[in-house]
Amino acid sequence: MTAQGPGLVCAHHHLYSSLARWLPGPARTPLGFLEVLELLWWRLDVALTPADIAWSARLGAVEALEAGCTAIVDHHESPAAIDGSLDVIAEACAEVGVRVVCAYGVTDRHGAGGAKAGLAENERFLRAGGRGLVGVHASFTCSDDTLEAAAGLATDLDVGVHVHVAEGEGDTWPRLARLADERWLLAHGVHLPDHHGLAGTIVHNPRSNMNNGVGYARPARFANPVALGTDGIGADLLEEARLAFARLREHDATAPPTVTWAWLEQGWALVPEAQADIVTWSDEPGVFATGVRAVDVVVAGEVVLSEGRTTRVDADEVRARAAEQAASLAGRW
Ligand SMILES: [Zn+2]
Repeated sequence: MTAQGPGLVCAHHHLYSSLARWLPGPARTPLGFLEVLELLWWRLDVALTPADIAWSARLGAVEALEAGCTAIVDHHESPAAIDGSLDVIAEACAEVGVRVVCAYGVTDRHGAGGAKAGLAENERFLRAGGRGLVGVHASFTCSDDTLEAAAGLATDLDVGVHVHVAEGEGDTWPRLARLADERWLLAHGVHLPDHHGLAGTIVHNPRSNMNNGVGYARPARFANPVALGTDGIGADLLEEARLAFARLREHDATAPPTVTWAWLEQGWALVPEAQADIVTWSDEPGVFATGVRAVDVVVAGEVVLSEGRTTRVDADEVRARAAEQAASLAGRW
């Protein structure tokens, strides 16, 4: 029995990571979260070209529609191809028919020049009318000056900051407390204390946190609004909500499904238009309803998924071209 509902929102994604499934693994097994960043993600992001970014984003956008996700809040980094990178992502998502909120993750990992270029990309994109937030990688890779510049830019442009917070134990998040306001998006928050003093929405990414072994964020303890993200592992938000519920119940077997469903619905506070999108599901979604698929998806009145197939692009071709691009990337990283 099919069921209809609004489009889902992925509140924290990395569209640049879609090609990683085809890349060889790290040279050695990472011994902790920092090494996962150093041996995989920071090696991948520095190798990205505009063509890699475009095919990775198209594939991620196709997979979002196939999962009934009509809006992606993306966090991007490509240190060797910063200028114009947010346009590449926005255009790729527009081609496929998915809403996207872009941000470039500013960092001092590549010196003050890299941080400046990242800030400039956020500013260029937003001033040109792009939908986005100001991105910051995480405070542990940023100087005080960079954090203040990013927060100041966000205030000037009347948007929030999208930043990783306390994902691993080594993050220096307390410096954000006096900068953050309620428009900020705080991804992970695993190692935040209950009363951390940060304003903003906390984005819970249970699958990614489990995959990286960083711990359970216990998001039910926060006074902040909580939304759900995938941290780049696809955009199947029903799956993420089911996983969030299982993790919640592991710690509190009395918690009702409405807790995790409210986290899913919090995405509409970030991208309100998604609530007017229409997803026809193969069955009624719920925390125990595994295998529910998106059959049809309507975004802004246009059918962008029909009988499980994207209408604007050929999903098979996007997958094939993305895999070819990944083979090229594998030879360069
Ligand atoms: Zn992330």
